[in-house]
Amino acid sequence: MIKLKGIAASSGVGMGTALCLGREEFTVPKEKISHEDISREIYRLEEALIETRRQITTLQKKIAQDLGFDHAKIFEAHLLVLEDRVLIEDIIQQIKNKKVNVEYAFWQSIKKYIDALLKLDDDYLRERVVDIEDVSRRVLRKLLKKDVTNLGDLKEKMVVVAHDLSPTQTASLPKENVLAFVADVGGRTSHTAIIARSLRIPAVVGLEVATRNIKSGDRVIVDGSEGAVIVQPTEKVFKDYQRKSERFVKEMKAITIPKILKAKTQDKRKIIVSANIELPEELPLIEEYGAEGIGLYRTEYVFLGKRQLPDEEEQYRAYVNVAKKVAPSSVIIRTIDIGGDKFLSQPQVPKEMSPFLGWRAIRFCLAQPDIFKAQLRAILRASAEGEVKVMFPMISGLEELTEAKKILEECKRELRREGKKFNESISVGTMIEVPSAALIADALAKESHFFSIGTNDLIQYSLAVDRANEKVAYLYEPGHPAVLRLIASVVKDAHNNNIWVGMCGEMAGESLFAFLLLGLGLDELSMPPPSVPRVKELIRSVKYEDAKLIAEKAVRLSTAKDVERYLQDELRKILKDNFERLVMT
Ligand code: PEP
Ligand code: MG
Repeated sequence: MIKLKGIAASSGVGMGTALCLGREEFTVPKEKISHEDISREIYRLEEALIETRRQITTLQKKIAQDLGFDHAKIFEAHLLVLEDRVLIEDIIQQIKNKKVNVEYAFWQSIKKYIDALLKLDDDYLRERVVDIEDVSRRVLRKLLKKDVTNLGDLKEKMVVVAHDLSPTQTASLPKENVLAFVADVGGRTSHTAIIARSLRIPAVVGLEVATRNIKSGDRVIVDGSEGAVIVQPTEKVFKDYQRKSERFVKEMKAITIPKILKAKTQDKRKIIVSANIELPEELPLIEEYGAEGIGLYRTEYVFLGKRQLPDEEEQYRAYVNVAKKVAPSSVIIRTIDIGGDKFLSQPQVPKEMSPFLGWRAIRFCLAQPDIFKAQLRAILRASAEGEVKVMFPMISGLEELTEAKKILEECKRELRREGKKFNESISVGTMIEVPSAALIADALAKESHFFSIGTNDLIQYSLAVDRANEKVAYLYEPGHPAVLRLIASVVKDAHNNNIWVGMCGEMAGESLFAFLLLGLGLDELSMPPPSVPRVKELIRSVKYEDAKLIAEKAVRLSTAKDVERYLQDELRKILKDNFERLVMT
């Protein structure tokens, strides 16, 4: 038995069999073969091509069933590669003439093929490189007999273990079969952690060595509250954690605030408690946990994992679906926040040294007006069918906001001309997640109907701590007085300009900070759906006047540790017996 320590990313206990997702790194050995081995190597090539073909056609059928025939068509390019006579002949010639093993010959030919395509002045063919790489990996896996499992293997309930899970992978996992997530990299606000919390899947990230210590098939326990993973536990430890898991489930059930009750303090201050969503699976949770609408809809997930960009119609359908499900409450649709750690298959963007500081979110959209306009038109059209607001991410200066609004107005003009309906007075919000935006919030407020503070990024940018890097996770402190002072000043600027201000960073869903944010005067808190009942109950148990005085004092303290200690002491006095249940679990 071994115990690994990581970052507690999503609370609860998950226990079961591990499924390790391999890192797609191949080392292709070069081996000399004798004349007699040639036919065996060619046979191995044929076998690998046939098996890969079988695998792809099965996948194609499944996708056609689940998502429709159009989506299944993307695999046709893969199948064509497997049948390309010129390519196959080239591999066979290499095996025969150079007397090398099939894996090596295959890889050399594929590289040649890709290089040639990349040199062509033809966008369509260049884009096929992604398909060729994908299919080649499948063939190589067969040839190398690499035990690389993929997400399709998740046919029963298992603990998913990975070096990292890309947002695309996380989105496409059959979540009902995920008992828990374990990852080598990442922090509390990395994408896997956020989705795990929304779906109440226990998760531990930033373990660094998980994939070295866990094999597929191992029995593991994931304690997402403590941030621990136990590999091959003894029977006694397994039973102890079973009890802990039952206790956790019971504690969660103890938070039974009726859904219709609003988050109103004892001295009658009301604050909106809404939810963040990423995936369609989360939609029923809005109602289940009693959230008052959607404070952040991360639309990137409509785009991720698709070979082709979703067009205006496809997006429109997705947004209307959300708007209708959440009505009569509202949904704040954030325009795509691509870049950072979320990338599209198309267009492919060059790798950057510091992607979080690079071509991301509004910067990407302003540079790709066609993509941006298709999304804005879809959002505007959806605004005719529900309470839809639009919000721009990662604004760092006034010009970006002005430019984005100009494009929004252009889309409105087009829709008017085309006779398509939309809400003429749709609310436009600005995310405050870059320190420069926080510092010029007074100017941005004059151009916005509302603000939503994105602390996941505001913390990383103001404290210079990569939010997904486990090595510096100890410095990622929501309670840092620098962060609190930025938040306080944004709230003041918003209110002085008569606009409301919310928060959609993960911090809003942590009870201790929710109390502080109430005191700082926020009008809305948006969080993973399962956090809603607890935050509502907490707010209903306190007085705004107390929260205000405590927040004023907390902001003047010198360290995050002092802030947390002070908040805990004060809240313990206020909540008494309910403190552990509402704040600490
Ligand atoms: C944030 O930065 O706080 C936020 C809500 O946006 P995301 O986590 O999607 O970057
Ligand atoms: Mg952000």
